[in-house]
Amino acid sequence: MDIYRVKPGTRIKLDDWDPNDKQAFPLSKKEGKKKLLQLNETLEVLQEKLYAEGKHKLLIVLQGRDAGGKDGTIRHVFEGVNPQGVQVASFKVPSKLELAHDYLWRVHQRVPASGNIVIFNRSHYEDVLVVRVHNLVPEAVWSKRYEHINAFEKMLADEGTTILKFYLHIDRDEQKKRLQARLDDPAKNWKFNPADLSERARWDEYTAAYEDMLSKTSTDWAPWYIVPANRKWYRNLVVATAIIGALENLNIQLPKVDFDPNSIVIE
Ligand code: AMP
Ligand code: MG
Repeated sequence: MDIYRVKPGTRIKLDDWDPNDKQAFPLSKKEGKKKLLQLNETLEVLQEKLYAEGKHKLLIVLQGRDAGGKDGTIRHVFEGVNPQGVQVASFKVPSKLELAHDYLWRVHQRVPASGNIVIFNRSHYEDVLVVRVHNLVPEAVWSKRYEHINAFEKMLADEGTTILKFYLHIDRDEQKKRLQARLDDPAKNWKFNPADLSERARWDEYTAAYEDMLSKTSTDWAPWYIVPANRKWYRNLVVATAIIGALENLNIQLPKVDFDPNSIVIE
């Protein structure tokens, strides 16, 4: 998934990234969905080994605009994975207690323990996205955060956490379609938040914030992937493949036992 990885130090312009791209998997939707089922099985086996070995930690960060597909990615990519050893941490508007602390406080509490995978549905990056776009803190404050975040993630990586970050890239038309679907389908009404429209009105400001985030915080130890996400099935394949690649690189070993299983007779 190297073609979607942001090389550290590159200046990102999102206009140059096609949200409809499908060059890594030139498949039909039907074939793509079938392929995901295979990847689900591979991921299930790798996650079980990660849990059994109990050594490595995997942190997956999902960011994207409203209706960008964060929830759907979690549902589809992790389908079939044993919930034991996988946690989702969703970051909402901070509580009073959270706001009384530094912005990484609530985040650090949710990072994975050994043998675990944690998926961040939104993350500390909100503190350079929504917080920046809405001037929730002055620029002098948020502008320092890129550096903090890189250092924080470096610490996690040095202490044994593999970090993968995915920006789910959709365009304005796709967002409109998805928000409209939340109005049209009664089963989806609950997902519609009228505030999403005022966020949508700030599309260009968010673009600038995302571009800065991607340009300043993609590192060797915690790379960003810009995932073409207009097609849900393609987005799922890209995310699943990147995760599987990272887990395979860890060369996980099942724990060695200190007995000879063949010598044991169970009466
Ligand atoms: P959702 O992901 O649809 O459940 O919405 C969560 C909301 O919480 C989004 O509007 C986020 O922008 C907002 N949010 C998350 N983190 C922060 C933060 N640090 N400061 C302000 N708003 C936040
Ligand atoms: Mg929402």
